[in-house]
Amino acid sequence: MPRKFLRLTLALIIFIALAAPTLLAQSSRVISLTVDATQAPIKLVHSHIVMPVKPGPLTLYYPKWIPGEHGPNGPIASLSGLKFSANGKTTPWQRDLLDLFTFHVDVPEGADHLVIDFDYIEPTASGAYTAGASATAKLDVISWNQNVLYPTGTPADQLIYEAKLIVPDGWKFGTALPIANQSGNQATFKPVSLERLVDSPVISGEYYRAIDITPPGEPIHHEIDLAADSEAALAMPPELKAGMINLVAESGKLFGARHYRDYHFLLTLSDHVAHFGLEHHESNDSRLPERVMLEPTGAFSVGGLLSHEFVHSWNGKFRRPADLTTPDYEVPMKTDLLWVYEGLTDYFGPMLAARSGLWTQEQYHDVLASISAALGPGRPGRTWRPLLDTAVGQLRSGRGWLNWQRGSDYYDEGDLIWLEVATIINRESHGQKTIDDFAHLFHGGANNGPEIKTYTFEEVVSALNSIAPHDWAGYFREKLTSTSPDAPVGGIENGGWKVVYNERPAKVPGRRGGAGDAYSIGLQVGEDGSVMDSIVGGLAFKAGITSGMKVVAVNGRVYTRDLLNDAIKASKDSKNPIVLLVISDEYYKTCTIDYHDGERYPHLQRDDSKPDYLDDLIKPRASN
Ligand SMILES: [Zn+2]
Repeated sequence: MPRKFLRLTLALIIFIALAAPTLLAQSSRVISLTVDATQAPIKLVHSHIVMPVKPGPLTLYYPKWIPGEHGPNGPIASLSGLKFSANGKTTPWQRDLLDLFTFHVDVPEGADHLVIDFDYIEPTASGAYTAGASATAKLDVISWNQNVLYPTGTPADQLIYEAKLIVPDGWKFGTALPIANQSGNQATFKPVSLERLVDSPVISGEYYRAIDITPPGEPIHHEIDLAADSEAALAMPPELKAGMINLVAESGKLFGARHYRDYHFLLTLSDHVAHFGLEHHESNDSRLPERVMLEPTGAFSVGGLLSHEFVHSWNGKFRRPADLTTPDYEVPMKTDLLWVYEGLTDYFGPMLAARSGLWTQEQYHDVLASISAALGPGRPGRTWRPLLDTAVGQLRSGRGWLNWQRGSDYYDEGDLIWLEVATIINRESHGQKTIDDFAHLFHGGANNGPEIKTYTFEEVVSALNSIAPHDWAGYFREKLTSTSPDAPVGGIENGGWKVVYNERPAKVPGRRGGAGDAYSIGLQVGEDGSVMDSIVGGLAFKAGITSGMKVVAVNGRVYTRDLLNDAIKASKDSKNPIVLLVISDEYYKTCTIDYHDGERYPHLQRDDSKPDYLDDLIKPRASN
């Protein structure tokens, strides 16, 4: 053996000798977690945990701040039947007096393992994210944060869990979590950190299908895992599948890199689960109505949600605001940079949906118009609450008053702001650079599998400056602190378009605050006449109508949506006001709205004095 190799071999022997006790110690510290979901159809999921411990006081947490949920929403109210035991005997426990998510036990002398059992009661109501309904008679989404307790003192990326999942007989499942072995309805996963476990949900169901959507020549595997409440709902139209393959290809072109080993779109199709999308490094947990893929607007709905959640793998998971990056699920997150985390994602998502053909050009335009109109001009909430505060103050108010309180505007407004950023990059670089160059720089780099690279406000500004020098800090500060009642439509205008209102209804479903008759009489009314929002200072508001009231008659006839639409349409040629009879706390009230401008729906209209850069940005980059 040559000398060089001898040295290498010796070094290897010494390394193994030194490392072995550490590895051994680590394996003995692995926490075993068995999640029995065989009773998910009757809304019970059982957890059995065997945790290595030392005698003495021990503090355990139930995850509270779930990444991507942006709030302390862990579904602690669903935890039930909690029991601890050690040395074969029940161990008493106490909940922390100040924190409902924290439990204290005293591990008895001689015990080196603590056994923990509890049930997770599947909620039937639509709560926020993983606190929402996740199980039906035919399917279940396992979000591991619902089913674990973890010990204090070790960061989540250093706690190792070996998870086993049991699903009902005959159910199949999909997940990005690496599988160690599988037989029948049971799977054991490879030991992973708690961070990776919580980041890797499992979708399972009786009606299940996995569809490969890896584009030709793409080395990394991509698939959609579907679980639905019926076999019929799994029929993905070929154009949607083609669009999803394009989406994967376009994401590669936009970012120039991937930061995952393989990727799973976990799509739940049910009318009995909460509807949302939650991002993960190597998957996303997206939930839509059962028959959404069969609808004519299926590609728009599915493509819109999945492209947003997919973008998060780069923007939100890989690149993450430093103050949103916490060592465990107990430490609170600071949400001031959500206008990058969610705002930039909300810009890139629709852009990729349009580039990949999931959205038509017209749908993309209508969404931008709808977002802009919902944000202004004349949105009263903007005059007191700057955009930055919508990110910092994560408030979930009750029904209505959204136009006055503002909601999660850092999503939609972020869309407009980042579109403007794209147009400024184009202008300042004299057409030499694009937003794609920024994405390559900021979100690119080597693929080391799932990892987190944090950033600050200053680092966003610095990355933009290295693409196209500009007063980016000043630009963002102005947008984030503005109390102007107008929407930031600079990106649409720089892109060669403007927002106009006409009588032609939009082709896309309304976005947050954008539906209904908000732009005519200043009212959003549901099918049953319930007032969802009334623009503060608008005509209906001035007539005395606010959120929570109910419209029961239009011009003397029993309310229907069509009747109200007819009245608004006819207002143009009528000298008479629109008279609405409303119920307010059991009292009838007649409200007179003096309106004569007919229907008004927001649209984008081409401004021929400028080049059409907006549409350049949504042209396909990948050659499929
Ligand atoms: Zn998001």
